[in-house]
Formats: sequence, C-alpha cells, structure tokens
Amino acid sequence: MILKKGKVLPGNVLKVDSFLNHQMDTSLFCEMGKELYKLFKDEGITKILTIEASGIGIAAVVSLSFGVPVLFAKKHKSKNLVGDFYTSKVESFTHGGVYDILVSKDFLSKDDRVLIVDDFLANGNALVGLIDLVNDAGAVVVGAGIAIEKGYQGGGDKLRERGIRVESLAIVEKMDSESGEIIFR
Ligand code: 5GP
Repeated sequence: MILKKGKVLPGNVLKVDSFLNHQMDTSLFCEMGKELYKLFKDEGITKILTIEASGIGIAAVVSLSFGVPVLFAKKHKSKNLVGDFYTSKVESFTHGGVYDILVSKDFLSKDDRVLIVDDFLANGNALVGLIDLVNDAGAVVVGAGIAIEKGYQGGGDKLRERGIRVESLAIVEKMDSESGEIIFR
C-alpha cells in the first residue's frame, strides 16, 4: 500500500492520507491488528494506548483483535493542567513546537499492561511522551505497534536500545522526494 499509494513529500514526510491517516482503509487496519496480535498475544495486554488524532482509527480497529479497551492521549495547549490527569510533553514532528498530552487517571492504573499503537514513528517523540505517561501511572509498557517507522530518523532504534519492544509493520529505510523512491529496511 505504501508503494502503491504513498507519496514522498519534501521535508522527509511520507504522505499516506489516502489509506492511513485521513481516508482510512479499515480492512488494512484489521490485518494490522491480526499481525500485532500475533506478535503480542502472550503479553497479557489490558489496554491499547494511542494519541489523537491519527492514531485513533488504527488503534480502535487493532483493539478488536485484543479484546481490550483503547485509550487515546489528548493533546492540550495549556501549560498548567490541573486535575486528575497523567501528563507529559511531546515535540511535534509535523507541526513544530511542544504540546502537552494527557490521559485521565480513571483509565490507566498500575495494573495495566499497555500496548502503544501509532501511525508513524519518526524521531520517537510521540512515543517517548506516551511511554512517560504510562510510567507515571505505574503501568507497564509492553511495547509499541507502529504502522510505519521512518528508520532513518532513528527514533525506533533509540527506543529499542532502551529495551522497549518496538514492532513496526513497515520500516522505511530511505526515501527520495525527487524520484519518489521508497526503500524498506
Ligand atoms: P515522532 O514523534 O516519532 O517524531 O513523530 C510521530 C508523529 O509525527 C506521528 O504520530 C505522526 O502523526 C507524525 N509524523 C511523523 N512523520 C510523519 C510522516 O512522514 N508522515 C506523516 N503523515 N506523519 C508523520
């Protein structure tokens, strides 16, 4: 699907909005869910965690394979959040700047074993923010299931070096916005 429908844009951006993060191919998401379930089925996962907005569709369909709820971190602009939330900060790859993410303490606890699901892994900032949230809750990060990792940006490998199990269904090793060429790891 990436080779058939993906477009390489200047600035290291892979546009996959015809099937992944604008229009959504839910049959493909279903296959992704089956694959992630094969990889993580023995881990006792109790919750899928993602981040709004483009992770939600994928995570919702993937959660059907696991039979567990899906929780998404909300993005919030305010710098002084109060209330019963776990929060952390994420630097945005696509929009620039830093934003807060939060999840309610009602929905994450120390008994949870969490699989993080997201559409893209680039520098890894989104994932690090989500991992911090889960750690804050005292829950366990079992791993991350990613649709597309851009391997050359290094975020995935940094997290693997930290001992986080990162399973990406596709890893782009190289892409060229002039020729449109995409090479996978
Ligand atoms: P990271 O925090 O790993 O640098 O970037 C992850 C987030 O940035 C993803 O949740 C995704 O929304 C966005 N992102 C990063 N690279 C790309 C890309 O090449 N294409 C698109 N469409 N989104 C990207």
